[in-house]
Amino acid sequence: MPKPIMAHLSPEVITKFWSYVNIKGPDECWLWMGKKKAKENYGIFFLKGMILYSHRVAYCISSSEDPGALNVLHDCPGGDNPQCANPGHLRKGTQLENVADMVAKNRQATGDRTGSRVHPERQAKGERVNTAVLNTDQVLEIRNAYNGGYRNMAGLGRTYGVGRGTISKIIHRENWKHITMATCTASAAGWAGT
Ligand SMILES: [Zn+2]
Repeated sequence: MPKPIMAHLSPEVITKFWSYVNIKGPDECWLWMGKKKAKENYGIFFLKGMILYSHRVAYCISSSEDPGALNVLHDCPGGDNPQCANPGHLRKGTQLENVADMVAKNRQATGDRTGSRVHPERQAKGERVNTAVLNTDQVLEIRNAYNGGYRNMAGLGRTYGVGRGTISKIIHRENWKHITMATCTASAAGWAGT
């Protein structure tokens, strides 16, 4: 289970947290200036021996509510920005909502040909995936979405930059058999480490 964040948010900790955030206008993205998790591009914040995603901490501080096992999702107007800590761009949601949201935005972006502008990081990921493989988190996201009732395999394929056949093999465990639900719990909890 994810560790509670709220209990550790003293005024000193909150002041320290915002000192790492480039606070701008209410509608703009507030970028994280502290450490970032390699590859994922999410900001991380060290708190009492815990390594936390900065957007989760921002959500806790602004809403006074621990997201617990739920994900904190980005909803940035200019395209989702993993480093954004503007509470107005953050909302709580399940892993399933997260993936469904990604598929919906990806489809929309493809339709009006603004994919590379709206989601440059996702575009790059798709190109890389074509020549390499999906990472563990992506495999778990795909299986979680399907097991949670999300059945749009073609949409998942577009979002993750692989074919529908690859998605089907992942779901039916013909590929990536070694990835288990044990890894999944840690990933869904949204912790950047221990
Ligand atoms: Zn933002």
